[in-house]
Amino acid sequence: MKEIRFNEPFVTGGEIKYLEEVVASGSFAGNGEFSKRAQSLLAERYQVPHVLLTHSCTAALEITALVYDLGPGDEVILPSYTFVSTASAFLRTGAKLVFCEIDPATMTVDVADIANRITDRTRVIAPIHYAGVGADMTALEKLAAERNVHLVEDAAQGLDATHNGRALGTIGELASFSFHETKNLHCGLGGALFINNPDLFDKAEDIWERGTNRTKMFRGLVDKYRWVELGSSFYPTEFQAAFLLSQLEHIDDCTAGRRPIFETYRQRLEPLVDRGLLSLQTLNPENKHNYHACFAKFNTPEDCERVRLHLVSKKIHAYIGYVPLHSSPMGRQLGYQACDLPITEEYSQRVLRFPLHHRMEADDAHRIVDEIESVL
Ligand SMILES: *Cc1c(COP(=O)(O)O)cnc(C)c1O
Repeated sequence: MKEIRFNEPFVTGGEIKYLEEVVASGSFAGNGEFSKRAQSLLAERYQVPHVLLTHSCTAALEITALVYDLGPGDEVILPSYTFVSTASAFLRTGAKLVFCEIDPATMTVDVADIANRITDRTRVIAPIHYAGVGADMTALEKLAAERNVHLVEDAAQGLDATHNGRALGTIGELASFSFHETKNLHCGLGGALFINNPDLFDKAEDIWERGTNRTKMFRGLVDKYRWVELGSSFYPTEFQAAFLLSQLEHIDDCTAGRRPIFETYRQRLEPLVDRGLLSLQTLNPENKHNYHACFAKFNTPEDCERVRLHLVSKKIHAYIGYVPLHSSPMGRQLGYQACDLPITEEYSQRVLRFPLHHRMEADDAHRIVDEIESVL
C-alpha cells in the first residue's frame, strides 16, 4: 500500500547552485543580493510598489500590526477560522480581536457579518484567502473605503491566485505571504510583506530592520543609523532568500504540477456532491485558484472523522481544517465563547483537507476518492 503524504515540499533542483553562490559571496545575514533579487522578482511579477522578505508570514503580520500603531481601544476584525498568527500579531499590540463569521460556501470571511461588526474603534480588517481562494476583496475594498478602515490581507495561502484579475496580496494596503514548507513555494520557513500603499513603506522598512533606519543609511539618506521605531529582527538570511529565488523562478511549474491533481479531485468528488454526501468549496468565476488546497465539507463531524480515520488506515494523510481561534483555549481565556460564532463552529468541524503536492499522480487522487466513496 503506497503511502500518500499530505504535503511534499516543492524542490526545483536549482536551489543548491544559489546556496553555493551565497557561500562564495561571503554575505549571509540577510538583505543582501539574493534577498533583493527575490523581492524584485515578486515586485515585478505582481506589480507591487515594495516587497520585503520576512522570516515567516507571522513576521509579516507582526510588521503589519506595528505599522498601524495599534493599541488598547483599537479593534481588528478577522476570521476565527484562520491560522493563529493572523490573531496573535494583532493581539500582541493590545488591540481587541473582533472575530467574524465565514461564508460556508467558500470558508472565507462573510463580508456582511464584518460590516455589522465595524464600530468607531475598528482600525483594520484582516481577511485570509483560504486554500488559495480569494476572500471577496471587491466587497471588502468598498466596505473599507466607506467605513474608513485599513484593509490588509493574510495571503499566506494566496500566492499567484487572483480575484477579478488582480493578484491576491496586491489589493489591501499590506499583505503577508508564507514560504513555509507547507505552502506552494517555500524556503523552509520564510515570508514576504507586500506594501501596496507606498506611504507605509518607510515605516515598515524601519520596523523590519529592528526598528532602525539602517537601510536609509545604506541609501545615503542619513549619516548614521538610529533607533526610530519599535521593530524587531524580521528578515531571513541570504540562505533562505537564495533558496526562495530558485523557487520563485519556477512558480509556473509549481502551479502546473498541482493543477491536474486538484482537478482530478474536483471531477471525481462532484458526483458525491450530487448524491448529497459532501460539499466542495464554491469556486466563483472571479477567483482564479493557485491549487493550494483541496478540501471537502462533510455533512456531519462524525462523517468527517470516519473518512479521516479510514484514509489514515490506508496510509493516506488527510488533515482537518482550523480549530476556530475564538473557542480555542486561548480564545476562551480572552473571554470568547463557542456560541459567539455558530457557523464557524459548525463548519470547521466538517472540513477535511486532502493530500496535494507536485509529487502526486492523478491516479493517487483517484485512489483517494475511491476510498472516500467506500466509507460514505
Ligand atoms: C501558513 C499560514 C500562516 C503562517 O505562516 P508562517 O510562515 O508559518 O508564519 C499564517 N496565516 C495563514 C492563513 C497561513 O495559512
